Amino acid sequence: ETMFSNISVAPPDKILKLNGFFKADPNPDKINLGVGAYRDANGKNYLLPSVRRAEQMIYDQQFPKEYLPIDGYAPFNEAAARLIFGKELHNEIKERTVTVQELSGTGSLRVAFEFIHTFFPDAEVYIPSPTWANHAAIVKKTTLRAARTYRYLGNRAVDTEGMLEDLRAAPAGSIILLHPCAHNPTGYDIPDDQWGRVFDVLEQGKLIPYFDSAYQGYASGDLDRDAHVIRDAVKRGFEVFVSQSFAKNMGLYAERAGALHIVCGVPQVAEAVRTQIKSTIRAMHSSSPCHGAYLAATVLNTPELRAQWEVELKAMAARIQEMRQALVDALEKHGVVLPGGNDHITRQVGMFSFTGLTPDQVLYLRDNCSIYMLENGRISMAGLNPSNVDRFAGFVAEAIKAKPF
Ligand code: PMP
Repeated sequence: ETMFSNISVAPPDKILKLNGFFKADPNPDKINLGVGAYRDANGKNYLLPSVRRAEQMIYDQQFPKEYLPIDGYAPFNEAAARLIFGKELHNEIKERTVTVQELSGTGSLRVAFEFIHTFFPDAEVYIPSPTWANHAAIVKKTTLRAARTYRYLGNRAVDTEGMLEDLRAAPAGSIILLHPCAHNPTGYDIPDDQWGRVFDVLEQGKLIPYFDSAYQGYASGDLDRDAHVIRDAVKRGFEVFVSQSFAKNMGLYAERAGALHIVCGVPQVAEAVRTQIKSTIRAMHSSSPCHGAYLAATVLNTPELRAQWEVELKAMAARIQEMRQALVDALEKHGVVLPGGNDHITRQVGMFSFTGLTPDQVLYLRDNCSIYMLENGRISMAGLNPSNVDRFAGFVAEAIKAKPF
């Protein structure tokens, strides 16, 4: 006898399921290109030395474990806002900006969409097609409606015209979710010279930009460059939402260190928004964990550690960029030409590459070569390194022979 008998099994998360297959594979030469976590040149996970030094300082100084305020650790919030907006702009807008600590990028999105559902219940939410799968899931759970999509992926590039056409058709007051850099999963970013057109359409249509920043510093290796889109939007006068994650750029994945920023038009309304966001947080999880916030704040607010972190972040971004070139070279060596050529691999930025491999080829690679990647052809570039990239390219050649395009 159970009251739960009518509950069916939820579909598994594709990425986590893939990880399970990878773990269960006894082949010592297996390659995991599924999960979006950084791996060093030896294929090992990577705890940043700057973060380890911060951890030692926190330990030595016996930082407390008592509850943080509902809106989080103030030095973290201040440093996070300064990082995303840049010092100058942050100073200009801080009186009208609400910043709260959140449970990494995911928690930040979740709280923001709870707030959106409460205060803008009729707003449509537009997400790119494709996008990180959790965007649609969070919008559905919080707003109780499916997100609408705008065209994003075109022919080995962003379909800017399609995107603008879809955004022009969005009702005023719609929330438009945008990736400021390192678009997940495609790796294609809106070209710098096209953002002005995107902003024109948002302005004309009275649409509200929501930036999901999960890869600041990871795309180009330069923290300012990877945030300039957000700063440009604020300078143009938009009120914006920003979700900020330190999972990737500080390697704090499981610490759940992140922030939600809402830039409001005037300070008076920011005060009201702040109290409402805090009451949303209070009813959801009361407050956020302290350790990740201590780590990020210590790295950001200690000049020596901050400088060290930037060097480490640059090195991670550079390693990924090197692997893009190495993959292009290895594919050429094995006579592989992906649909439309291989040069898109070096044009893409950030953690991921959309290879153009078909689901049949992806399954072939999984079943016969112990290579694990998403069925949509996305690979995590961080899973490649000098000792496996040639092998990967050779297996891709084999998969294409077995299952032609
Ligand atoms: N947004 C995007 C686009 C992402 O790729 C990720 C990480 N996969 C996140 C948000 C959130 O990650 P986290 O909750 O670990 O910060």
